[in-house]
Amino acid sequence: MAKKIEKIRVDMNAGRLQEDLEKYRLKALELGATQAAVIRAGDIPVDERVTLKCQIPRCFGYGAGAHCPPNTLKPGELRELLKKFQFAVFFIKEVPPEVIVRDKATIKERVAAYQEVFKIVNDVESLAFHDGHYLAFGFGAGSCRHTFCGQMENCQAMEGKKCRFSLRSRPSMEAVGIDVYQMVARLGWDIYPIGSDDKPENIVKGTLAGLIVVQ
Ligand code: SF4
Repeated sequence: MAKKIEKIRVDMNAGRLQEDLEKYRLKALELGATQAAVIRAGDIPVDERVTLKCQIPRCFGYGAGAHCPPNTLKPGELRELLKKFQFAVFFIKEVPPEVIVRDKATIKERVAAYQEVFKIVNDVESLAFHDGHYLAFGFGAGSCRHTFCGQMENCQAMEGKKCRFSLRSRPSMEAVGIDVYQMVARLGWDIYPIGSDDKPENIVKGTLAGLIVVQ
């Protein structure tokens, strides 16, 4: 079936926004999210201390890709940008403990799980864009350096060339300073801290998250 594409309107279909937001929430669930909610853009907590955790202890992705700190959007910039938006769709996807831990034995499953989160973000963002909410944008989970370019020697975008996955890859929520743990907890959903050395038997559940800021 041909993709539905709407004529651009000056009001960005504001009168239909709530209906569309619910459609995007349901789409995220249909695409495999465990939970999804419509939230106010003003309720997205952005905190410099989140990106500090990319640096201390240092994440493998820190400085290694164009969508990771310190190369991506800064928390202060995002905070300012979000003042211009009203609503977003936030979702989580639960992942088995043995997949979420950093274990070489489950690397394929882990990469696939992160790619599924990006796919939900990409598809919902594209739907909103074609519905006339043309400023919609999204964030995924984890570093794209691992999720998309793990087998490559470098991040091509860092060399001034085109990102290999320019339409699929996004900064993660945490890379831009969004306090994902707090967002999940506020909604009453479950999330637990997972350390780099944690073993599956010590993990209650794995949770990945994504966000699409709609309008
Ligand atoms: S080239 Fe790869 S690592 Fe670099 S921004 Fe694109 S997806 Fe991320």
